[in-house]
Amino acid sequence: MSRLLEMIAWSDEALERRVLDSISLKAPWPVVEHLATLTRLSGTPEERRAVELLARHLEGWGVPHRVYEPECFISIPLAASVRCNGTAYRAKTPAMSVSTGDEEVTGELAYVPGGAAGSSPGDVFSAGVEFGGARVAGRIVLTEGMASPGKVKDLMAAGAIAGIFINPGQNIHEGICTTVWGTPDLDSAARQPTIPVVAVNYADGQALIRAARQGGRAGVSTRLETGWRTIPVLVAEIPGTRAPEECVLLHGHLDSWHTGVGDNATGDAAMLELARVFWRHRRRLARTLRIAWWSGHSHGRYAGSTWYADTHALDLARYGVAQVNCDSPGCRWATTYDHLSAMSETVPFVDAVIRATTGITPQPERPPRAGDYSFNSIGLSSFYMLSSTMSDTDRAERGYYAVGGCGGNIAWHTEDDTLEIADRDNLLRDMRMYAASVLRVLNAPLHPFDWTRTTAEFRQTVGGYQQAAGDQFDLSPAREAIDALEAALGEFYAGGPARGTARGATVRRFNAVQRRLGRLLIPVNYSRMPAFWHDPAINVPPLPDLAPALALPRVAGDPAQRGIVRAHLARGQNRLVWALTQAREVVLGRGPLTPPPARP
Ligand SMILES: [Zn+2]
Repeated sequence: MSRLLEMIAWSDEALERRVLDSISLKAPWPVVEHLATLTRLSGTPEERRAVELLARHLEGWGVPHRVYEPECFISIPLAASVRCNGTAYRAKTPAMSVSTGDEEVTGELAYVPGGAAGSSPGDVFSAGVEFGGARVAGRIVLTEGMASPGKVKDLMAAGAIAGIFINPGQNIHEGICTTVWGTPDLDSAARQPTIPVVAVNYADGQALIRAARQGGRAGVSTRLETGWRTIPVLVAEIPGTRAPEECVLLHGHLDSWHTGVGDNATGDAAMLELARVFWRHRRRLARTLRIAWWSGHSHGRYAGSTWYADTHALDLARYGVAQVNCDSPGCRWATTYDHLSAMSETVPFVDAVIRATTGITPQPERPPRAGDYSFNSIGLSSFYMLSSTMSDTDRAERGYYAVGGCGGNIAWHTEDDTLEIADRDNLLRDMRMYAASVLRVLNAPLHPFDWTRTTAEFRQTVGGYQQAAGDQFDLSPAREAIDALEAALGEFYAGGPARGTARGATVRRFNAVQRRLGRLLIPVNYSRMPAFWHDPAINVPPLPDLAPALALPRVAGDPAQRGIVRAHLARGQNRLVWALTQAREVVLGRGPLTPPPARP
């Protein structure tokens, strides 16, 4: 086995068996049942009771923990309605919509077909609207899909005065429609939605489409409570024994829509069980494990995890090994790990640990811009978001459409996300899978990540962009920098510390190089913003600064537009090549590692 493979497949088999054997449903299942009775809107008393429930368990086991009380920008939907031709239709408004209060926005309906629904949960979060020349300014736009931030942004830009989203089924799904990631800052505050937005179900949507085709008018009203609220963020910390400054963050949201059993009571209970089991084996853990239960996920666009990223940014930048998200594990009929989020460098590791613990071959995908991935601009290696899910064929056979959680159950974000969505066997399997994954990252002497997977991904991405650009723009500087880094990585891994013989300082340095690679290579692939700032909650394409190459064929005949795109690509390529060059220096042992330690 090569040193790289040995590093990725590392496990302490005896300890792993003991940890996995300690995991049971005894504590977590009653927690799922209890959470199934609590509607956990962010910053409300019922959510507080859920925090107390978890904290009581941690207290009982002696797990060190703390409840933080940040003040965040939160939006709670209260009521909504749509009136058309004398009929009142049932509607829901997403968090962060404009609240019309007692007023009503009235106008002519403009129907814009929403296009084919995507097949992946990522599409639920990131799709936009194609207007196809339809006149929408000054009108109420009626379109298919979830009231997602990308679509609402497009509606606002086109001058619509309100949006009505036709959900694909009988139920109306709750959601949040702002592109502002976490609590707003001076740069992002202006992106707050400025129009009222509602969703209706499929049948009512068809009636509204008929009205729109006859030039009908509608009235939309919404009521929300939006403003600053104190929200609870519960964090448990189990200190490592050998490299306590290096930490792994396991996290998921405690707040919910309705009783949110599949999304995310199962995840909350799973993380609680992992806290219990890892605390029990704490003397055998090399690195520090932090487990966080967020509020503000559903009603503040990841406000809790964003606050945590802001508050612990420098520590995470220095010592964060990985962030592992836990959302919607243990759901009914969830027999696959298809559409599993994992950054490229973690894919071989994720594949090995999931096959070893479950016998299932996962199908990892690029993480979408969603799900508490509030650490991308810091550059933390990341894996998992949504957990196990039903297969695409299974979903098609049930006549289900794609949703963003609950293992593919369409009870997601509705009143139906109740106890029947959780599955004991699947929860046990997923807890074991998470425990093995976290244990290996905590204890592997060398971080088990393969950065040549990242350079391979970059090469493929740049190849696709070059093909689109043709002779309109030259991306060979990027290609050459990728090749140079990959060659250096080959030597780095071949000459890495060998098993059993490595001395402490060598190992620490090797790991510091790997973490520094994350800080350099993840931001250019997942973020357009400077480090520590948060990109909007809309799709970020791979190597986003170079993605406009895809537009070059379209603007080839328009010198003004072509000039703008080329200038953008020149700057974007500089950013990428600079990051790749620094990464190579670090790998060759010539570049700086992390800034001076935060702790004495
Ligand atoms: Zn969720």
